[in-house]
Amino acid sequence: MIKLSDSIESVPQISDSYAELLSKLNIREVKDLLTYFPRKYTNNQELNTIDEAISSPDPEKNYQFKAKIINVKSVRLRNRRTLQNGWAIDESGEIKCMWFNQPYLTKVFRENNEYYLTGKIKQQGKKFIFYPNVYEEVDDKRESVHLNRITPEYPLTEGLSRKWFRNRMKWLVDNIDRISIEDELFENGIVDSPLKENLKKVHFPDSESDFFESIKKVSIYELSDIFLRLFENRRQKKVLPPPKIEVYSEEVTQLIESLPFTLTKDQLKAIEEIDSRLVGGNLIDLLIQGDVGSGKTIIAVVASLKCALSGYQSIVLTPTTILAEQHFNSFSTILKSFGLKTQLITKDVPKSSINSSDILIGTTAILSRKKLNVKNLGLIIVDEQHKFGVNQREELVRDHVIGKMEHTPHLINMSATPIPRSVVQVIFGEIDVIRIIEKPAERIPTKSRIISNEKRNASIEWIKKEIIEKGVQVYWVSPLIESGMENSKNIEDLFEELTENFGSEIKIKKLTGKMSEKDKVSITNSFKNGETNILLATTVIEVGVDVPNANIIVIEDADKFGLSQLHQIRGRVGRGNKESWCFLYPSEKISENGEKRLKFFIENDDGFKIAEFDLQNRGPGEIYGVQQAGIPNLKIANLGDSELIKESRTIAEKLYQKGVKDIKFF
Ligand code: ADP
Ligand code: MG
Repeated sequence: MIKLSDSIESVPQISDSYAELLSKLNIREVKDLLTYFPRKYTNNQELNTIDEAISSPDPEKNYQFKAKIINVKSVRLRNRRTLQNGWAIDESGEIKCMWFNQPYLTKVFRENNEYYLTGKIKQQGKKFIFYPNVYEEVDDKRESVHLNRITPEYPLTEGLSRKWFRNRMKWLVDNIDRISIEDELFENGIVDSPLKENLKKVHFPDSESDFFESIKKVSIYELSDIFLRLFENRRQKKVLPPPKIEVYSEEVTQLIESLPFTLTKDQLKAIEEIDSRLVGGNLIDLLIQGDVGSGKTIIAVVASLKCALSGYQSIVLTPTTILAEQHFNSFSTILKSFGLKTQLITKDVPKSSINSSDILIGTTAILSRKKLNVKNLGLIIVDEQHKFGVNQREELVRDHVIGKMEHTPHLINMSATPIPRSVVQVIFGEIDVIRIIEKPAERIPTKSRIISNEKRNASIEWIKKEIIEKGVQVYWVSPLIESGMENSKNIEDLFEELTENFGSEIKIKKLTGKMSEKDKVSITNSFKNGETNILLATTVIEVGVDVPNANIIVIEDADKFGLSQLHQIRGRVGRGNKESWCFLYPSEKISENGEKRLKFFIENDDGFKIAEFDLQNRGPGEIYGVQQAGIPNLKIANLGDSELIKESRTIAEKLYQKGVKDIKFF
């Protein structure tokens, strides 16, 4: 028997070096591979005959033939390039085939065998040429894996070929009966077919209805697992009482009066709501939702002041170092006159300093490396929670922050992601939500435009003028290649292109997630203090960078982002009181749906509306797997399906009453 927790190397043909590549996709155990779901499917069920195809070929169509391949020869071209040509022959006719730079193909095709091949047909003079991109040998003894079927497509990383990956997955799924998997839901009659069968159909479906149905069923396992954990978490929170924190109205008034601005009504309301809970002695378990720039930080600062004055420590958790430093500066500046000690948690901060601080600020990465054992923790503030996985936050806190627990600390989550209510439940469980809608007064909405390819150069010229004449700073954002987005612009190429277009007088710097934290901080600082004109960044800037002088943001391949994520990225500008611009450069292959989504985006500035639209208008290819919308990435369940969420919750409630604490599979 194979165990779900067995190393991925127990799958045949996965060597050390492949295991290492797979670990980049977070695939380490058998379970990780089995739950690595297709991002989309290609329907390769239609077979064409050569004769019919060449009678009037459609240059856009992907043809599929079942043919013999003969006479494959390799020819040398200039620049060490090679060309392979041969003939495809089926019962109806024959067509010339061409490949580039694959000399090994001369030894691949055996003349007595048949192959499935897909590719496009191009006309050359009076002749037609077939350019196969995928082939697979016809073998009547086994089901085909890549062609002549509905083919699963997985987001991969450099060094892994699609065929190789699919073959490994096929092996796993064909051997699924040898894997021991508990199937609580099927055994209790809650779903009507076994998990194993549905997993098979999700990975290698026989029909389209197959995968729709099976995806739904497997999603129920994932969602009920999440609910079960949330129920258990809620129960544990009730075991110990919350710490007693007073409201300290006088001190808070003093703090508010010291600010260089007046708080908005929504900010004041949020502060009051927290107070009313504190006065009643209730546990604060709260999500503050407010668009980027709506001013959530100050609410957290006020709460941590009360906590400190009541004799408890607070901890502020962020997803990135940049954001931690920024909060450290804000908290220490605002709280200076109260004589409180704020401490940035770094790798080597001493124990004594942790024990003697009122407010601790750090990233979750630091936490998982360091056991803090804070004895007197009264309040946990988590910024941009959606960047952490579901539940990861609370587990981290329980395992790493709190020493001997005498009470359940209060919890305030802050998020700029306008997560719809049904989704809030999945991520946070039963939590109170406070929304900050009103924006600080003098903000002018950012003007957003879609820039077609022909206008790209003109827009660059315009931006150049703004930089030179007005000293405007620019964010230039490109989607991450590692995030499974193929054909995105590579950041190095983009850097060269921009350097060429903008010339040497304009300083451009790159910021990517792979850089060391030290480099990231120093590059961000050089942008903040104006030394850098253009910050070319991957989505690492999505969270929390605050540079009021940056008034233009350019987003490459904009249609490859979720709209909510785009909205977050756009929120980096328009923070001062000057006019600001967001330019979207669509990818070359933008889909119709992609155009529709971008149009909606440029006409809307309300994050909640954008999120709802986004959840309802994803293309089928975007539902599974790929990072979405700044909402935690579930493996299979579509968070836009509120019916399924409800159903799974009801199922989880029943199971929880029976004493089930989690679904072993997810
Ligand atoms: P976010 O909600 O995105 O975390 P921040 O709390 O970082 O927003 O606030 C964004 C900026 O707006 C900060 O520079 C902050 O000092 C400023 N700010 C916050 N509240 C107000 C207000 N009521 N009026 C004017 N500026 C404000
Ligand atoms: Mg913030």
